[in-house]
Amino acid sequence: MASTLPVIELDLVVVGGGVAGLWLINRLRSAGYDAVLLESRALGGEQSMASQGMIHGGIKYGLSGQLGAASQALAEMPERWRRCLSGNGEVDLRHTNALSEPLCLWSTGGLGARVQTMLASRALRGRNQRLIDDQRPQPLNHPQFRGAVYALSDLLLDIPSLVANLSSNAHGALLRPTNIRLKRDHNGDVSMELETPAGLQEVRARRFIFTAGQGNADLLSQLGLTQPAMQTRPLRQLMVKSRHLRPLFGHCLGKGSRPRLTVSSHRACDGDWIWYLGGELAETGAQLSHTELVTQGQAELAQLFPWLDWQQAQWRSLFVQRAEPLQNNTQRPEGASLQSVPECNKLLVGWPTKLTLAPHLADLALAEVRRAEILPTGTAGCRALNTHLPVPPLADAPWQTAFEEAK
Ligand SMILES: Cc1cc2nc3c(=O)[nH]c(=O)nc-3n(C[C@H](O)[C@H](O)[C@H](O)COP(=O)(O)OP(=O)(O)OC[C@H]3O[C@@H](n4cnc5c(N)ncnc54)[C@H](O)[C@@H]3O)c2cc1C
Repeated sequence: MASTLPVIELDLVVVGGGVAGLWLINRLRSAGYDAVLLESRALGGEQSMASQGMIHGGIKYGLSGQLGAASQALAEMPERWRRCLSGNGEVDLRHTNALSEPLCLWSTGGLGARVQTMLASRALRGRNQRLIDDQRPQPLNHPQFRGAVYALSDLLLDIPSLVANLSSNAHGALLRPTNIRLKRDHNGDVSMELETPAGLQEVRARRFIFTAGQGNADLLSQLGLTQPAMQTRPLRQLMVKSRHLRPLFGHCLGKGSRPRLTVSSHRACDGDWIWYLGGELAETGAQLSHTELVTQGQAELAQLFPWLDWQQAQWRSLFVQRAEPLQNNTQRPEGASLQSVPECNKLLVGWPTKLTLAPHLADLALAEVRRAEILPTGTAGCRALNTHLPVPPLADAPWQTAFEEAK
């Protein structure tokens, strides 16, 4: 039976407002498409706000000595983001703060030769520089430090400012429905019913693009679909706050092929620095309780930074999952993924797999939209829908709220 609901037609509907969806809506609007982004909770939502904000050219994948296709695909990304930060790229990021450029890679005693060999490789030459004495960040500039420190030509962004910047660029197109009901008709055409304060509204579009991270699987299941399949990789990030900490951004090289520790630093409201810790510590931490991870983190930091005072430090942890397209043997995917769905004519499903690759995911989506000869038609659908729906709030970053009760 045909629906009797009021219908709004758009060129494109993006579902999910992490960095992937926000980057995409920026590109679609600049290209003149009648497009909206629907976010069910808060902009910057889950993985994006929990990320360490590193925009990297893949050097850390060279730690194993295997610079594969992933590194090649990533290599151009830092430069592309830099163009956006200076206002000369495809998305205007002049209001986004870069927290540290460059990032550093350091080795502990005995591993220096391995780092040197890797960084001297043809693929990485010119993208790093050895730092000595006072050039080193303060936490690594200590007489007891044994090892080598390199500056990598990557950058690290303040994610709350990135999400605010991308959101304000797309003002008017970011909407928060109370509920989204997806439907698929006998031709395989997708449409949606949105619950709005004014009642139910049917929304049709030439393409629906899911960029809902872990939520992609639930959206697909509403349509009775299990493909494209998704995998999640759990992490437990550790946060440590202390008035003795000074900022540090980068990776500590361990014996394995992944960074032993990845550190980003953020200012708490009271002026203290918070170290947000990932890498191998967070990967093994996914199997640990909060208390076990804190014990492990304390031992790790006491070993790596015995000259720092950890007595007064406060500890928090965050369990979070990376969401990605399913890989063989749950390996890490190599690049951004955008997949069409054979049973649905109008559906695309995307995972950037890395914050760094959000621009690449948007390239893939725009190429697909153009291949389907979908032409921009203005803003009538967006204007009709945004009179019915509120704007989603901006999410908080974990370190902004984790220590609140400790104030
Ligand atoms: C701890 C951690 C550290 C990381 N560090 C880095 C890093 O330093 N560099 C890097 O390049 N990558 C990093 N990553 C990976 C990167 O964060 C992710 O690949 C990227 O942020 C994914 O973005 P996204 O927009 O696809 O997903 P998300 O950020 O998860 O956003 C998905 C959004 O969809 C919304 N949503 C879900 N379901 C629905 C629904 N039904 N309807 C409407 N909206 C919905 C959610 O509320 C959320 O806002 C890290 C990931 C983690 C977990």
